[in-house]
Amino acid sequence: MNIYEKLQNMRVRLQNMQIKKSGKNKFSGYDYFELADFLPAINDLMKENKVTSIVSYTTEVASLTLVNVEKPDETIIFTSPMSKAALKDCHEVQNLGAVETYERRYLYTTAFEIVEADIVDSQTGKEDKNKSSIKPEKCEKCNRWIGDVQTDKRKIPAGEIVKKGMEDYNMKLCYDCYAKIYRQENSEQ
Ligand SMILES: [Zn+2]
Repeated sequence: MNIYEKLQNMRVRLQNMQIKKSGKNKFSGYDYFELADFLPAINDLMKENKVTSIVSYTTEVASLTLVNVEKPDETIIFTSPMSKAALKDCHEVQNLGAVETYERRYLYTTAFEIVEADIVDSQTGKEDKNKSSIKPEKCEKCNRWIGDVQTDKRKIPAGEIVKKGMEDYNMKLCYDCYAKIYRQENSEQ
């Protein structure tokens, strides 16, 4: 079997699997595929079909090369221009990591024709109580958008930060402002 046939087989097999989306875009309220959702399935399919994938990055381009293991000369290369992420309060290396993860996800969804159909559905469509209750909030102290926060221990969703601020100080507060007020209150006692 040549690599194009193998790729087509894998695409069809993948679309028949019921893969669940675990990524959630809180602001828009839609779900999306994370790498971890589909990569294990793709790895199994590649093993079965004797194909392997190699992802690499240059400063300009991210590429995914599919190789027919039975005929290593046969390859298909998918590329994507490298983008830049500017995550707040993140080091350059963390930003690079974020970009690479994004690019990998993009390359695999392209190569395997993974369709994110629900994006349109959930933005135009049906009422979902969980989703519609998550809306972006601004901090009443510093006026910045309140986003998810990654601490050493865990990821705190924006919704939880807003809720805590309302409970303790009756204000919508970002994580930084909450921490500041908390420290002030507790040092003055
Ligand atoms: Zn704030």
